[in-house]
Amino acid sequence: MSKNPVESSQASLHLRPGKERSLLRRHPWIYANAIERVRGNPASGQSVRVLSAEGRFLAHAAYSPASSIRARAWSFVESDTIDAGWMGARIHEAVARRQALQARTTAIRLVFGEADRLPGLVADRYGEQLVVQFLAAGVEFWREALVEALVQATGCSAVYERSDAAARQREGLPSREGALRGEVPAPVPVTEDGVRYTVDVVGGHKTGFYIDQRDNRQMVAQQAAGRRVLNCFCYTGGFSLAARHGGATEVVSIDSSADALALAAAHEPLNGFDAPSTWMQANVFDALKALAAEGRQFDLIVLDPPKFAPSVQHLDRASRAYKDINMRALRLLAPEGLLFTFSCSGAVSVDLFQKIVAGAVFDAGVDAQLLHRLSAGTDHPMAMTHPEGEYLKGLLLRRM
Ligand code: SAH
Repeated sequence: MSKNPVESSQASLHLRPGKERSLLRRHPWIYANAIERVRGNPASGQSVRVLSAEGRFLAHAAYSPASSIRARAWSFVESDTIDAGWMGARIHEAVARRQALQARTTAIRLVFGEADRLPGLVADRYGEQLVVQFLAAGVEFWREALVEALVQATGCSAVYERSDAAARQREGLPSREGALRGEVPAPVPVTEDGVRYTVDVVGGHKTGFYIDQRDNRQMVAQQAAGRRVLNCFCYTGGFSLAARHGGATEVVSIDSSADALALAAAHEPLNGFDAPSTWMQANVFDALKALAAEGRQFDLIVLDPPKFAPSVQHLDRASRAYKDINMRALRLLAPEGLLFTFSCSGAVSVDLFQKIVAGAVFDAGVDAQLLHRLSAGTDHPMAMTHPEGEYLKGLLLRRM
């Protein structure tokens, strides 16, 4: 029993009997239905001690009264003090872990939530611009300390907030966007593996760019030489530019968003490619049918769709959609051609995705080999105790 007056006056969560199991295995989430009672009337985001039904210390956690994930663990070490200094130490560690990536790129995810022991915090660096997302009550509570530590750890003086509205709503937090340090940024130039992009951190998807696909873009670049490339769901042309950089003979890119395509096309002159490639504004499902009807063939196809399954309730429909685009893409692939196919739906497991794609291979009436399993880059790690953190998965297939 602690004699420390601060600690003993600290609010606490008392779990129901048997509900301590996942915390003992260091899973960081405490669901509302695991809690017997809350003592001390903690405010949103405030630190609480989490105790088992028998009164055993389990974790220090951030209280989130509005969310079904009622608390998220900061630490499982009783002697830790959760304060601004603790937050700063986590930020400095996370930034240091990504140091080596600076040799390749100026677009880096510096903090990835639970994997960096900061549940609900995302921080990305684009050149000298930081972009942050506070997606849980705990990191919202410590936002000043976290931003200050990020500025100190990176030397960047501009910070823009892009706190995603839907995630914050689940936490009972208002939507928030805007400059926290410096001005509202203009599109930010970045360079990744020798390719230049501009990132719209104010209006783009996520924090502006799919940083998580870096290694897969590099792999596409390495395989693109002499190949005819089709990039489906191209957004601002990440894979398209990588393919051109790698020496593709032709690149056709499809997206439904005119704004994304305009940014994508502007990346070509930025990289010194004089002749524009083909940018098609279309629904990929329709475009794949149309390309087949024209008898088109490609030697390398990228399928990186949006999250078809936002939750497990959408799994059936999402599975059919993944299967459909993969089947159609496989039919457009020339013999010995490569398919880079992805799912960023957390609800679709690696196993399920492989089964869906296997079904698509069968339905397409082709044979294919699995060459590589693909995932997000090392700046998007997953805590081994928190498998929910894994979302991006992909397969590299070769048509036989
Ligand atoms: N591959 C991209 C990220 C894809 S994000 C990258 O590496 O940067 C998903 C993209 O799919 C978005 O740009 C969105 O506009 C587009 N999109 C969503 N549904 C679509 C559809 N049915 N047809 C074409 N594009 C679609």
